[in-house]
Amino acid sequence: MSIPRLGVISGVISGVISNESGGPPWGPGDATPAPPGSTKRPSRRDLAELGGIFRMRRLIEPELCAQACTLHTDADLDELAAITPDYHDTSVDPDEFYRAHREFHVRLLAPAATAWDLRVLRPLWQETDRCVRALLDQLGMHPALIPGGAPPCSELLDSFRTRDPEQARVASRRHLDLNARRVREFMTRSD
Ligand SMILES: [Zn+2]
Repeated sequence: MSIPRLGVISGVISGVISNESGGPPWGPGDATPAPPGSTKRPSRRDLAELGGIFRMRRLIEPELCAQACTLHTDADLDELAAITPDYHDTSVDPDEFYRAHREFHVRLLAPAATAWDLRVLRPLWQETDRCVRALLDQLGMHPALIPGGAPPCSELLDSFRTRDPEQARVASRRHLDLNARRVREFMTRSD
């Protein structure tokens, strides 16, 4: 297929602890993302910003999934299955865990994503990771054990195998919505 190979765009993007947001998100925040890598403690302002971040991602990612599911080859999907994050393995270095999760999502969107799509998504993912990671680090928790359970990355991949854009769109929204809700509950509880 005339699609960018999976590995081409991999590594371009960083950031997602997972992405499912849900429902009517949080209020829009006036976001000035902290520098990548920053681990300052998340604040209520971060919570508001995350609302805006998930809202933005919800506008972009489901449509890219709807397109990408028709473009991946079967071999691509098998490769993606092999790199789906393992949310039971706490032996993985946390840095590597975040990197691998981002890699999975970059590859998932890659056939449909333009360079600009990725430029927009990258800081959104980075900021999501920063906030979640700051809390998990503070609590001494491994990212594979995010409270509320693992994001449904596998289910999202399964939706791609149907080659049905609507199923992929719905699965992407679910992935984002669920993740947003868990992050919000987690951050609120830890405040
Ligand atoms: Zn994920």
